[in-house]
Order: sequence, then structure tokens, then C-alpha cells
Amino acid sequence: MRSLQSSSEDHHLHLPTSGQRSTSQTMVLCTCGQDATIRTSWTDLNPGRRFYACPNMNTRCARFLGWVDPSTCPRAIAIIPGLLRYRNQMELEVAQLQEKNRLKNKIILVLLMIFGFVCLLLLDI
Ligand SMILES: [Zn+2]
Repeated sequence: MRSLQSSSEDHHLHLPTSGQRSTSQTMVLCTCGQDATIRTSWTDLNPGRRFYACPNMNTRCARFLGWVDPSTCPRAIAIIPGLLRYRNQMELEVAQLQEKNRLKNKIILVLLMIFGFVCLLLLDI
């Protein structure tokens, strides 16, 4: 799982001075002047919780500018990481089965071509 390193939720957070929300989202700026983008945390403590991050990968920019969503409830924190691990395992198994299926289809195609070739040889005789 990806990790999010941050010790302060309000680090580098700049909310509009009016304090009003003009749209459904609050505008958050990084100290570099860029509008923050919204990313999703997949840590065990904040699974699926959205946060503001600077789109610049500049070293002076913080990767974490504040939370979009409220704290995740303890029950979800207990359940979601296990579900995510299970989903990842299922995706891996699906990919492995698809690869096996592709190989099986190739073998069937080769066998059909051999069978067709043999049939043509038998018909010519
Ligand atoms: Zn920045």
C-alpha cells in the first residue's frame, strides 16, 4: 500500500480569506502558489480518505496540504484494508487466469490448424 507521510494536517494550508465556499470545494493553495489537487490516501489508518496535495513534485512543496474528508470511522479502518488486500489478491489471480487462458487458446488454435492440415492431406489422397 502507498504510504502518506505527514505530521501536521494543516501544514501549508491556505484557505480563502473570505472563508466562504464559492463552489462545493474549498480552494487550497500550496506555498508555491499552485492550486492543490485532490488525492486519495490508501494507508491503513486513512483508507480511501481524500487529501489535498501540491501537483508540483518540488522538494519545497508538501505532499500533504490537508484533508478533504473527515476522519475515517474506526470500523472502516478495521475493515477496508483487509478488503483492499483481498481485492488486490483477486486481481492478481484474475490476471494469472487470463494468462493461462491465453496460452490455452494458443494451444487450441495450433491443434486446430494441425487437424485442418491433416484433414486436407487425407482428402487429397
Ligand atoms: Zn507546491
